[in-house]
Amino acid sequence: MKHQDKTSLHDEDVLAGLLYRMQDTESFEQFRKQGERCGWCFHPIRLAGMSTRVDLSSGEITSSYSSETEPTGVLLKACGTRRATLCPSCASVYAADARILIRSGLSGGKGIPNVVADHPMVFATFTAPSFGKVHRANNDSGRCQQIRRHEHCTHGQALWCNKAHAKDDRIVGEPLCMNCYDYSRAVLWNSLCSELWRRTTIYAKRELAQLLGISKTAFSKQYRLSFAKVAEYQRRGVVHFHAVIRIDSATKNLQTLPGAVSAPMLISAITSAVAKVTVPYPGDFSGFVRWGPQLDVRGISNEQEYISEIASRDTYDAPEPTSGMRTRAIANYIAKYATKSTDDSGALDRSLHSLSDLDQRGITGHLRRMVETAWDLGGRPELASRRLREWAHTLGFRGHCITKSRHYSVTFGYLRAERQAWQIKMSSTPEVNHQNGQTIGNWQWVGTGWWSSGDLWLAELGAQQKSESRLLARESQCIDLMSLGKAGTSGSNTDSSSQDHHYGQ
Ligand SMILES: [Zn+2]
Ligand SMILES: [Zn+2]
Ligand SMILES: [Zn+2]
Repeated sequence: MKHQDKTSLHDEDVLAGLLYRMQDTESFEQFRKQGERCGWCFHPIRLAGMSTRVDLSSGEITSSYSSETEPTGVLLKACGTRRATLCPSCASVYAADARILIRSGLSGGKGIPNVVADHPMVFATFTAPSFGKVHRANNDSGRCQQIRRHEHCTHGQALWCNKAHAKDDRIVGEPLCMNCYDYSRAVLWNSLCSELWRRTTIYAKRELAQLLGISKTAFSKQYRLSFAKVAEYQRRGVVHFHAVIRIDSATKNLQTLPGAVSAPMLISAITSAVAKVTVPYPGDFSGFVRWGPQLDVRGISNEQEYISEIASRDTYDAPEPTSGMRTRAIANYIAKYATKSTDDSGALDRSLHSLSDLDQRGITGHLRRMVETAWDLGGRPELASRRLREWAHTLGFRGHCITKSRHYSVTFGYLRAERQAWQIKMSSTPEVNHQNGQTIGNWQWVGTGWWSSGDLWLAELGAQQKSESRLLARESQCIDLMSLGKAGTSGSNTDSSSQDHHYGQ
């Protein structure tokens, strides 16, 4: 279910819904509380039932709650999606969690020792290779695809483009010739890039062992590679990864890191691993899945809270090294991608039942060819294990948007549980204040979404107010910091959107 354009007060249904909801102050107040409790989710799940809390030591019922006590007769539960196209409210909660998850791995916190900040760490972007010439924005020459001799492909299409495309030009990422473009390998690359990543981490460990002059086994006994990464779709429909990679000691508490390793060593190991690692294409496809030439690896210096550019295999529209990027900016940068969909419109948020679904969803051009290719390949018995029809809507990619190794930092589950515990603590409802007990519940799904477009309008308003108060809180935090004279040492908060790069070709 995609969240459509905002509801409007000019809509008669919205007005009627609002009037109905506001006719009685007391029930409106209860409705407002329900909305706040589900974080003003745009598509809440409606549940009916009851739960009882039992004191485990005495067997006594300490409290009970029934949805019948609500004016609407149901309990509202947030949909909890990460995709902003589906529910901006829940996506903002997810992005906030993603930010914390990344930051605690960069500088400690949430149970992660602060000592991780001193471990060798890098921020790296891994890209896919070329599957055919595509229209590009903002390359070095300012032109899309310039060549000396004007040539045409066998399909009669020009193999050059002299235009200067703006970044938001819809043509960016589209192939110069769709018939020349290697759609099959592009889809299979998406399908296998998670395996390529897994092998890269193994290769990087091998390279590090070699740099340290020790065996692989000795390296694994002393060190561990921890990481968190986010997958982002480039405009050409292939995934690339942004990752924080950290060297830890192989101990449980991450302490006592042997001093021999360093960030430049990690950069060198990753660069070598990326150049060597491959995964064979499956089925009848020849060749190997490998990384593209555009790799960007930067050391992260927590001491100054800045990233300094140490190595880059290619020069492209990477952020200026002088611009600096704080650990907070890295977290924001990764969180920004955490709520994105396969396509900007969210038309590919759900899986497909058949290719005709694409007509209803308005998917055309290059993106459609990617989906169609995944669907076609998914029908081949030799590629059955890739489950490409199931993942046609994600253009073959079947990994999670954000993944992390076990020791990098806390999990989303941990952060959700922590938030829930906080809500319970702050709640005045008696049944949730007892800690030594067990809750037994019996709940049934009765529906999804708000009752009327008027209610949805109120949810949108509630979500807007929530985000405005968050902004105000952040601003007052900045003012506090400035008054303490810390603004100069922490630097300006780099706008992560300025670091956005979509690589052509
Ligand atoms: Zn939601
Ligand atoms: Zn072009
Ligand atoms: Zn062609």
